Amino acid sequence: MKTTLLYGGTLVTGKECGLGAVLIAGDRIAGVYFENGGDGKDRACIEEWKGKADERVDVAGKIIMAGGIDAHVHFREPGMSHKADMETESRAALLGGVTSFIDMPNTKPATVTLESVEEKAAMAAGRSYANYGFHLGATNDNLGELEDAAGNHGKDFGGIKVFMGSSTGNMLVDSAETLEGIFSIKGKPVLVHCEDELTIRDNLARATERYGQEIPFGMHPEIRSRRACILSSARALELAMDKGTALHLLHVSTAEELKMAAAAKVHNPHITVETSANYLWFSDKDYDRLGSRVKCNPSVKTEADRAALREGLKSGVVDTIGSDHAPHLPSEKEGGYCSAPSGMPSIQQALPVLLTVAAEEGIPLTRITAVFSEKAAEIFRIKDRGRLQAGYFADIVVADPAAEDTVTKEGLLYKCGWSPYEGCRLTGKVETVFVNGEAAVRNGTVTEKPYGRRLIFGQDRTR
Ligand SMILES: [Zn+2]
Repeated sequence: MKTTLLYGGTLVTGKECGLGAVLIAGDRIAGVYFENGGDGKDRACIEEWKGKADERVDVAGKIIMAGGIDAHVHFREPGMSHKADMETESRAALLGGVTSFIDMPNTKPATVTLESVEEKAAMAAGRSYANYGFHLGATNDNLGELEDAAGNHGKDFGGIKVFMGSSTGNMLVDSAETLEGIFSIKGKPVLVHCEDELTIRDNLARATERYGQEIPFGMHPEIRSRRACILSSARALELAMDKGTALHLLHVSTAEELKMAAAAKVHNPHITVETSANYLWFSDKDYDRLGSRVKCNPSVKTEADRAALREGLKSGVVDTIGSDHAPHLPSEKEGGYCSAPSGMPSIQQALPVLLTVAAEEGIPLTRITAVFSEKAAEIFRIKDRGRLQAGYFADIVVADPAAEDTVTKEGLLYKCGWSPYEGCRLTGKVETVFVNGEAAVRNGTVTEKPYGRRLIFGQDRTR
């Protein structure tokens, strides 16, 4: 079995940060050694393996972390592979430090049956550069299927995705009875996109009256408004407190939702919060400059919201960061507010944006590891991944936390070929990535073979 020792770098787990080394043997992590750990035993192990590992890589000045688990991506396959596919986007993911992804169900056809989950897994097999898994979508009429899936097939999918408010793909669940049924499902997390549909419709009607078809992009946070987010999240949190649901509140974009979620967590510890790097980075000041390129759902809100989300990342109210990578072609993004679809590609910038925000805000790197990999592995009970720990799969990222890089169009691996982050100067560069013990990225370049495997999920029958 081939052994590789990464030594001289700073190990970052969700709990500690210190100089050390990681030993990879085959597809697993065989040892994690802190230089001042184990009463001198760790240092002895490092010296021993420096002498006998098949490959020794000096990563002095770099950080070594568990690979990212991005539980919120839209890779567009099947049905929209002109925008993106699992092969192209999973390669981009690696450069963002993401070694595992869970894809959302609003593909064509929508992933609303276990059969369609299996079809997507078959498409990813042998093509995905990162490890892959899929969420199962809820509709107004598949409650029986969801209950059966959560009860009997929990290892095959990540969680149950509910759109309480429509987005790309239109899988809106608006029947109160169905929602209560979904929130009563035990054993799997329920992921919810919260925006109140009626509020949005009203706001859009008012904006159309005023501007006709020429609605300025700056109106997006007025249309997909703060109120729409708060109303819908309040409803989801209320239901989750009522039913004890393992609710994963997706892409929180306002300070108010964060406050409500923090309070609700006290009553139901199974509630978790996701935000996206997009809300940690952009604000409503960017609509004039970026127009449709920064149009996503929920909308990017104010600088005060961004500051609150950064604070939540630091304090721990934010549990995970999902990229919400949602590519569209540039040509689709043209043509005005009403026709430009919502969503933006972002996964290739995932870890660099987080490291930049951490540097700007003085957020400890242990928090970054927690939100980037460990907590998602825990929420979705992903087998043997998401930790820098002996026995786990060797999904590892080595990054230079001090390297500065400007995002260029030429450097993007997305099929759609653009990003709202173009021109942004980011601190922190992904240099080496291991996926299942194989070097999938070397010197910032993706190697030629896909090493991704299917994720295996767990079930929690106690919640
Ligand atoms: Zn999404």
